Amino acid sequence: MTEQLILKAGEQAVSCNLVDYQHEYRDFSWQEARRSLSGLPGGRGLNIAYEAVDRHMDTTSRDHVALRCVGKDGMVTDLTYEDLFLATNRFANVLRELGVAKGERIFTLLGRVPDLYVTVLGTLKNVSVLSPLFSAFGPDPIRERMSLGDGRVLVTTPELYLRKVAAMRESLPRLRHVLVTGTGPAPEGTSSLGELMAGVSPDFEIPPTDPEDMALLHFTSGTTGTPKGAIHVHEAVVAHRATASYALDLRPSDVFWCTADPGWVTGMSYGVVAPLSIGATLVTDAGEFDTRRWCRVLQEQRVTVWYTSPTALRMLMRHAGDLTSEYDLSRLRFIASVGEPLNAEVVVWGLRALGLPIHDNWWQTETGAIMIGNLAAMDIKPGSMGRPLPGVEAVILERGADGRARVIDGHVRVIDEPDADGELALRPGWPSMFRGYLDDQERYGRAFAGGWYLTGDIARRDGDGYFWFVARADDVIKSAGHLVGPFEVESVLMRHPAVAEAGVIGKPDAVAGELVKAFVTLNPGFEATEALRRELIAFGRRHLGAVAPKEISFDQSLPHTRSGKVMRRLLKCRELGLPEGDVSSLERPTHDV
Ligand code: AMP
Repeated sequence: MTEQLILKAGEQAVSCNLVDYQHEYRDFSWQEARRSLSGLPGGRGLNIAYEAVDRHMDTTSRDHVALRCVGKDGMVTDLTYEDLFLATNRFANVLRELGVAKGERIFTLLGRVPDLYVTVLGTLKNVSVLSPLFSAFGPDPIRERMSLGDGRVLVTTPELYLRKVAAMRESLPRLRHVLVTGTGPAPEGTSSLGELMAGVSPDFEIPPTDPEDMALLHFTSGTTGTPKGAIHVHEAVVAHRATASYALDLRPSDVFWCTADPGWVTGMSYGVVAPLSIGATLVTDAGEFDTRRWCRVLQEQRVTVWYTSPTALRMLMRHAGDLTSEYDLSRLRFIASVGEPLNAEVVVWGLRALGLPIHDNWWQTETGAIMIGNLAAMDIKPGSMGRPLPGVEAVILERGADGRARVIDGHVRVIDEPDADGELALRPGWPSMFRGYLDDQERYGRAFAGGWYLTGDIARRDGDGYFWFVARADDVIKSAGHLVGPFEVESVLMRHPAVAEAGVIGKPDAVAGELVKAFVTLNPGFEATEALRRELIAFGRRHLGAVAPKEISFDQSLPHTRSGKVMRRLLKCRELGLPEGDVSSLERPTHDV
């Protein structure tokens, strides 16, 4: 191996939340972490919203700013913990008055505005289940997730409702209520959230909540079939809080900005729950990424801890020069990144341009919280995801020809020797672990073998116990930090009359990590023209929104497996000009036979 660059832990290492990794890792227990939470009064259980909001009512945090929301126009709205307490009580009462029961699903289709945070936490207070939708989704992913998740209530804006939902409302017969934000008139078939909130009491007592009650439903993409609804329970807050303290070094005095949208798991676990459960001030920005805008948010909101994505950091890196001389970023004390591989040069760039190294960490929708990270007190190995957090046992499993862990008679082999590639696996049992895929027990079962949860990622561990991401073991695409299921994109493209078949891959991209690229076979009578390519791109965009393919190539001879599936792996090899590897499972072209 080449000489490894190591960034030594700085002076801050002596005052961070976790000073001695080895010691903490050895002595940690989740039961102990659970004891640092309040629990519902009277021993009535554990509720995420109580830990995030209500528990602060008896402390000096009551008047502390909980949410600082920067609007698209730059206007700032502050909500103290007390404001949030009252607003979330009202929202819970709205649900109660509408007859929404425990366990019923509330979907949000909202930007990063105060109503989103109130809806999330108010839903949890009612012990109903919150499922967030990414507001840049097109109508198809929205309908699919709301049908699979049995959405009973949707909270959205009048504009998003009219543009994406109204036309398909009839295909969602179980959707009882659509509540719209804003002060304007509510479109037909919807009710004004503001009016409903004004008509209910600001007092609400959270009903008894079993820590195993379902709280959050996060849809994630697989290689085949429909998106999977990963079930998370109230107990998860134990991990949200502990991991934010360890991996983000978060404290009540911090001003914390998690740039991920709450439509994705990072934006929910760390963009809502974790910072509030710690009592910090959470900054949100309704605007989209823009180098200057983001630097202004960091400067003006005096952000101290920043959690963002490699794509955003690479875009900032393109901005020539040293950001600290243009902007006052002196308040920033800790930066972390997640969601895709963080290349070593970005970590080093951070040190030069932002004055701080960037701490990569790893987790996924199913794990609910950070599992592996470069922690504040650790030396950073740029390019590595870091080491398992206290309470997390991670290993590398020997893999078979399909890239996944080799399972023989229910047994797997843990690779003890350093630097060998294999499937990253975790010992089940941490509090934020998903409890199932909605209505798919069989798929859930397949995620475990030999006593391990199989992550679907290929990684290696070096001699110092640092983990290095190698690749995903499946065809799922990671574009700008968002997981995109190729099957979902292929299915939409195949609804266009010109398309006979489609194969979708992630094409490496210097900024976004991967771009969604589709190869399509045309039906007879259609010609591969530039106009048709543009039409298909627009078609994808209209139906899928932000996860639509950016590039489309025509290909009348897509490679297939013997069972007739498009070989995405081979399409990718061809796209990259790589050797095609083991093609034994490919269908033989007819001229070979
Ligand atoms: P999601 O479930 O959408 O959060 O995506 C989880 C997946 O993102 C993981 O299984 C990895 O493939 C990828 N991922 C997350 N964090 C990292 C990281 N730090 N380095 C490399 N890949 C990552």
